[in-house]
Amino acid sequence: MNPVLTAAERLTVRPKKLLTASNRNLARDNILSWTLPAGPVRLADGRTVNPCPSAGICLRACYAMNGTYRIPSVRERHQCNLAYVLDDLPGWTAHMITEINTRRQPVIVRIHDAGDFFSVLRGSSVCGVMLGR
Ligand code: SF4
Repeated sequence: MNPVLTAAERLTVRPKKLLTASNRNLARDNILSWTLPAGPVRLADGRTVNPCPSAGICLRACYAMNGTYRIPSVRERHQCNLAYVLDDLPGWTAHMITEINTRRQPVIVRIHDAGDFFSVLRGSSVCGVMLGR
């Protein structure tokens, strides 16, 4: 997180690495994650987005709205992820393909441990990553 930039400006900064080893148990098995925020979210630039458009009763007990998901730096990272796919989906797709293909070891990706495939385009981009592997 760059404290010199405003929260809205930080939404436009693309991370060097997309995949994280945020879940240590999974990382031991070489499973890395990339995720979105859960449920309706108001981004720092004022946009309100719902990455879980089909969510219903699960919103009341969503694991991704509790625990470490509530830590401000974690929330911000997930919101930046959402801004990336909203604002530059082709760039995100190319970035993810490059990152996976240039790793020294094969990796298993846990995609969207929170959030959903909120649009056909978003689902297509993940298919593009799978085909680009
Ligand atoms: S992340 Fe999954 S469980 Fe949580 S609100 Fe979205 S769809 Fe429901």
